[in-house]
Amino acid sequence: MIQMSSLLKDALHLFYPHQCISCGDDVLPFDKMICNYCFENLPRTQFSSLSENSIDRIFYGRLNLKAAHSEFYFSKGQLIQSLIHQLKYNGNKEVGVYLGQLMGQSLLMNNRFKEIDFIVPVPMFRQKEIKRGYNQADIIAQGVADAMQIPVAKDLIQRIQFTSTQTKKDRTERWDNVKNTFMIKNEQLFKNKSVLLIDDVITTGATLESCGETILQIPGAILSIATLAYAIV
Ligand SMILES: [Zn+2]
Repeated sequence: MIQMSSLLKDALHLFYPHQCISCGDDVLPFDKMICNYCFENLPRTQFSSLSENSIDRIFYGRLNLKAAHSEFYFSKGQLIQSLIHQLKYNGNKEVGVYLGQLMGQSLLMNNRFKEIDFIVPVPMFRQKEIKRGYNQADIIAQGVADAMQIPVAKDLIQRIQFTSTQTKKDRTERWDNVKNTFMIKNEQLFKNKSVLLIDDVITTGATLESCGETILQIPGAILSIATLAYAIV
């Protein structure tokens, strides 16, 4: 492919300013979404290398996991919240792929996440996905898959019943609310496979637990979990 001359790039920049999606700084190369300053200040957890991190602990006694991880701390009013908001509500899929790639790069550097056969995004309810046009977990999974070079197994798990909104409920109620709402559509494919389940934000882990439990009913299935962000509750 012919490289764009720097003159042409400058001209394009003049007409289509390419800004940092966080601070608005416009001195970015075309292939970057955030500037170096904002990149350095992303609230990374560094959890991928820790075998008893906060995410592993969320699932102690609840799910038998090989490894668990969240890439960023989620805090209100901070950059990561605005990036995830752009992904979920402003149709900005690029930001989801980008953040997924960053997480995939972290996971790649760690032995705990070796030998994964499939990346599986937590499915949304069909009606909700149709309304939004996409499932944000699919988009993040795409980025993770790019970085790790592992296939995404989409549409193999289905979310099968509608539940009311999960906010303002305690952990037990939430759990009852989402229990058994997932169904494997192709069990044969997951037999004796290692699956990395992906979601956007983890809070209590109720949805991931329900989905993970369904996957672990498959004979020989090995489960790991990674979410983009961790919201401390
Ligand atoms: Zn910036």
